[in-house]
Amino acid sequence: MKNIKDYNLDELKEEFKELGEKPYRAEQVYIWLYKDKVKEFDEMTNISKELRQKLKENFTLCNFKIVKKLESKDGTKKFLFDVLDGNMIETVLMEYHHGRTLCVSSQIGCKMGCKFCASTGIPFIRNLTAGEIVEQILAVEQEEKVKISNIVFMGIGEPFDNFENVINAISILNNPKGLNIGARHISISTSGIVPKIYELADKKIQCTLSISLHATNNKKRSEMMPVNNAYPIEELIKACKYYIEKTNKRISFEYALAKDNNDNLEDAKGLVKLLHGMLAHVNLIPINKIENGKFVKSTDNNIIRFRDYLNEHGIVATIRRELGSDIDAACGQLRRKTIEEKR
Ligand code: SF4
Repeated sequence: MKNIKDYNLDELKEEFKELGEKPYRAEQVYIWLYKDKVKEFDEMTNISKELRQKLKENFTLCNFKIVKKLESKDGTKKFLFDVLDGNMIETVLMEYHHGRTLCVSSQIGCKMGCKFCASTGIPFIRNLTAGEIVEQILAVEQEEKVKISNIVFMGIGEPFDNFENVINAISILNNPKGLNIGARHISISTSGIVPKIYELADKKIQCTLSISLHATNNKKRSEMMPVNNAYPIEELIKACKYYIEKTNKRISFEYALAKDNNDNLEDAKGLVKLLHGMLAHVNLIPINKIENGKFVKSTDNNIIRFRDYLNEHGIVATIRRELGSDIDAACGQLRRKTIEEKR
């Protein structure tokens, strides 16, 4: 059966037409789904019994089940959801002074194989549908009785490897009759799938683009991120420049610092050279240690030295606050642990 949350409003109106229903009925249902966040069609009390019956016969509501919920000392909450086919995904809720941010997953597993990531080593299973992406926000808002103000696509999966569904999910999140989260409050993070950077630029969606860079030469980056073999740094930076030119938006470059790997001054110099003159911001991330992983977190001194070097040489850089380190908040860690426990 079809998941009703997979459709943006225009698509749902088309579906309703096929059912012989007026388009305004689709709007009413949309409001029940995203403003009232109902879990059953029977809760849609201004919809006739006949239509509710039709909806039950044609659609599911895809209400995720919470398998685990962990809360960190710093207030970060991590949810492990059963997506109703026995597979699990992770979603992380973080509290910032500017509001609540939800880190959502876009795939079940990931094909990219980044060496520092806990999702590596667990096979890729499938893409999440647009509705399954949106359901993460709904489920957390329902469970926590809160309003999410920012979304980051930084959970399990490479969003650009599931481009269409991610873009469709954003159109559902954006809709004023839906969750009404402005594109400026949505951030997509990619490991660097170059053709999709061009595609996103041409769509001119006002969301923020983050690039997982992590190294400034191809040898080192390919060792950390196999995607670099397909799309080397020069091509990636060229695509980023195109994106900035088209959208006039700043790109955020993610740089996870790993001790004795990419955290010395030579690397900082390389980064300054690479990003010189670009509308860019560097987000320095103290790497999360994963079991069996090769990379270890950089020292505090090295992290500060790295940031200061960038700032002194014209590149705006900040250090990301570590949230949820006591609850395996890095992408894929909880799912990986739970799968391994079941084996
Ligand atoms: S860091 Fe992101 S893109 Fe890389 S393997 Fe992990 S989930 Fe996939």
